[in-house]
Amino acid sequence: MKIIIDKEACIGDGICESLCPDVFQMADDGKAEVIDEQSNEPCVQDAIDACPTEAISIEE
Ligand code: SF4
Repeated sequence: MKIIIDKEACIGDGICESLCPDVFQMADDGKAEVIDEQSNEPCVQDAIDACPTEAISIEE
């Protein structure tokens, strides 16, 4: 299992970072990046649900 972000889809609004800062952070390119790809924190699903462009997904 791996949490991934589609950088093309990300619009850099920072919602995922604010909901789940141990897993997502904003990178220098203004897009989100995953800092803990294996996290099973519940907030990961919150971020997936909240992302306006559906840029976050989980790869099995
Ligand atoms: S919530 Fe979605 S669009 Fe917003 S920064 Fe995170 S991945 Fe990008």
